[in-house]
Amino acid sequence: MHQIAVIGAGTMGNGIAQTFASSGFDVCMIDVKPEFVERGLATVRGSLERLEKKGKLTAGDREAALARLKTSTVLADARPADFVVEAIIESADLKKHAFRELDALCGPETILASNTSSISITELAAATGRPDRFIGMHFMNPVPVMPLVEVIRGHATSDATTQMVFNLCTRLAKTPVEVNDSPGFVSNRILMPMINEAVYAVMEGVAKPEAVDQVMKLGMNHPMGPLALADLIGLDTCLYIMEVLHRGLGDDKYRPCPLLRRMVAAGDLGRKTGKGFYRYDAGRA
Ligand code: NAD
Repeated sequence: MHQIAVIGAGTMGNGIAQTFASSGFDVCMIDVKPEFVERGLATVRGSLERLEKKGKLTAGDREAALARLKTSTVLADARPADFVVEAIIESADLKKHAFRELDALCGPETILASNTSSISITELAAATGRPDRFIGMHFMNPVPVMPLVEVIRGHATSDATTQMVFNLCTRLAKTPVEVNDSPGFVSNRILMPMINEAVYAVMEGVAKPEAVDQVMKLGMNHPMGPLALADLIGLDTCLYIMEVLHRGLGDDKYRPCPLLRRMVAAGDLGRKTGKGFYRYDAGRA
């Protein structure tokens, strides 16, 4: 296996494409518009340059990785891939549409993987004729530096597919952890209720955002407080995932905090809009 297609050149897609290209795979990174592909490629260039400056790779490694990374705006360019990772926006309908097309385009042996944070792998797999060769491959942000890949088995994912993805993770110098398909998987099942509870603490006047984050950083040894992390992830994404947990698990303990809803309605989405629990100027708090 060496030919990889990454669908989506956004935050996660370009990080995933960079990671595969740096590990010796030929990659085609596909998005819907040339400017999205260009932005993704510029991010990869910048990231590789930073790694070179830190001495983590040589100029030769950087150039070789870029030479292995092709881009396209046509989904049909995924046809020759042995392995496809989808990282388009978090919409079940858009993802199913893309997977139906990929299923028709790619050879029968090609494995299809989704980087979804919360959508059921079983449901996405059912949109294809190869649910045994369909799997969740949940990378963490930023992909080139975070070691974990949460590997999610859908209802029909085969042992062979799971083993293949485990081997692939090892080649990417990532650590795979196998989990079953359930709302939020493990990562967001645990992380998001903590973030939601931190928002409740602010709404109820228990403490200011800075104090909540300081308690968790200094007291629990978290590298980043839950509210700063929520701003990084995007408050809209946090709300979306809480809704998936609430709906999927049917327990009111997952009810999204009203303050989170209000901030999303106001357009205060965190870093990407310049304002969330903190204010940001050119991406800095
Ligand atoms: P993003 O908005 O940064 O990027 C999504 C990209 O997908 C955009 O460039 C968009 O143009 C492109 N796209 C949309 N429809 C497409 C199509 N049909 N074909 C090709 N490209 C298409 O989003 P992101 O943060 O990179 O998230 C992508 C996926 O990764 C989501 O499923 C998200 O839940 C998941 N995820 C995100 C994070 C995170 O921290 N951002 C972490 C883990 C997983």
